[in-house]
Amino acid sequence: MSSVLIVGAGPTGLTLACELARRGTAVRIVERSPEPQRGSRGKGLNARSLEVFEGMGILDRLQAFGRDDLFFRKYRDGEAVSDTDPFEKFAPAPGTPYVRGLLIAQWNVERVLRDRLAEWGVRVEFGTELTGFEQAGDVVTATLADGERIEVSYLVGCDGGRSGIRKALPITFEGRTLQEQTMVIGDVEAEGLSQELWHQWIDADGGIMLCPLPGSSVFQLQASPERDAAGLRVEASLESFQRLFDRHARIPGIKLTNPAWISTYHVNERIADRFRVGRVLLAGDAAHVHSIAGGLGMNTGIQDAYNLGWKLALAAAGRAGDGLVDTYEEERLPIAAWTIDTSGELWRAVSRSIRTAGSGTEGVITPDILGLRLGYRWGSLAVERDARTDDAPLRAGDRAPDAPLRDADGAAVRLFEIFSGTHFTLLGFGAASAAALRESTERHGDSVWSYLIGSGPGALDDFEGHAAREYGVTGDALVLVRPDGHIALTARAGDARAVHDYLGSLRG
Ligand SMILES: Cc1cc2nc3c(=O)[nH]c(=O)nc-3n(C[C@H](O)[C@H](O)[C@H](O)COP(=O)(O)OP(=O)(O)OC[C@H]3O[C@@H](n4cnc5c(N)ncnc54)[C@H](O)[C@@H]3O)c2cc1C
Repeated sequence: MSSVLIVGAGPTGLTLACELARRGTAVRIVERSPEPQRGSRGKGLNARSLEVFEGMGILDRLQAFGRDDLFFRKYRDGEAVSDTDPFEKFAPAPGTPYVRGLLIAQWNVERVLRDRLAEWGVRVEFGTELTGFEQAGDVVTATLADGERIEVSYLVGCDGGRSGIRKALPITFEGRTLQEQTMVIGDVEAEGLSQELWHQWIDADGGIMLCPLPGSSVFQLQASPERDAAGLRVEASLESFQRLFDRHARIPGIKLTNPAWISTYHVNERIADRFRVGRVLLAGDAAHVHSIAGGLGMNTGIQDAYNLGWKLALAAAGRAGDGLVDTYEEERLPIAAWTIDTSGELWRAVSRSIRTAGSGTEGVITPDILGLRLGYRWGSLAVERDARTDDAPLRAGDRAPDAPLRDADGAAVRLFEIFSGTHFTLLGFGAASAAALRESTERHGDSVWSYLIGSGPGALDDFEGHAAREYGVTGDALVLVRPDGHIALTARAGDARAVHDYLGSLRG
């Protein structure tokens, strides 16, 4: 019996499948489409997703398909008025090495994930549709379109905004569809147009934007829909794209060609009231949909999967209680609600700004969309045993920051490098934590990797004090970091018991 069946091979399902496969969990992933999706859809990975992919060991592969240096070029009435670097206000820092979004077509994100998954021996089963499922006790029986029945411990619906799995569960998908907020969208080629800029022609009566997709000759086109003489929306087509381009860009001789994907996009703001019913879970668009302003859709799904993966792997292996899986909804549902509000505000702000010739699209590049401030302080997995105050720079549940260190040979090593993998990481700040680190290694073996941080023998040298500052440590202390890069526990340096209690509590 497979432990987990994932339905849907978009970015969410693929990230989850990788997280399970690399932990040795028996997983199948089925996808209704006969082949990978061809439409670009999401085209940016935010800073937090880049950290996630560093943790999964595939950041370099994704970077090879993307770029982070594209300027926005704005035009009014056909004339170029400004070139701007949308991320110019953000600079990397020791705790936050990635701040610029990586422009990358969703099909390339999916391709990298599929390739990585295949290296663990798991292949996406294309042309395979889930048609039903039932739960009894701790077994879910799923039925596929060809009649095959599969028994699993968990079924995860990563089956997109129209999720059939969600609809089959007693789950509401509260929210609204904003029919009046509509955009036409598609992938086209435009020979003669520079691929070095994201072109944005915005006029009083509408506009069109063409964003080059790295590593291809394709632009993602977004535009306000064409209207006919009666003010009715004209169906999106290559011809209507060309008319919109000619009206706003006014560059004779450039022809839009090879439309690989054409769609009409309505803003939907909806959230599932539960992310779990029994042994069936929802993740990604199946659980929440929102405006594309800020490019948070694909990123939120990837980060859902990263939160769920380690929990499901431990529970499916019987190494954690099923209660650990409950913390997925506890942590991610509030993040989804926040994302809907945030992207909605960004959508309204950018729409206003475009109408009034304000800052326009770079108005959506705010600290919020980097995803670096999101954490789970409220969750039951966030434990503090060292009396941190509310104003401490870092609290249990927060994202664990990076910091540069040096190993015993003086070689550079970053915290993110030692976090990368499937383990918990125990950081012991100062010599007084050495005994607790030793004890943890004896008791927990490979599941917890322990490091002494400081300046003495055997320690990773915090030579500029960045690690202590980022982690809000003034004396000696213990910090336990979860496999998904969030702070599990903060404790006093000698409190080995706190670490054992914490890990014991997960076994539930
Ligand atoms: C027009 C448009 C533009 C977008 N632009 C952006 C953007 O600029 N930035 C951004 O971050 N996001 C954008 N998004 C959102 C982003 O594409 C989604 O958030 C992302 O695809 C969600 O990933 P997912 O894996 O959760 O779901 P999906 O990518 O939707 O994948 C779900 C998969 O499940 C499969 N499936 C469904 N039912 C079954 C079944 N019964 N059996 C088997 N398989 C099934 C589907 O075929 C599909 O492949 C856009 C979305 C749209 C539609």
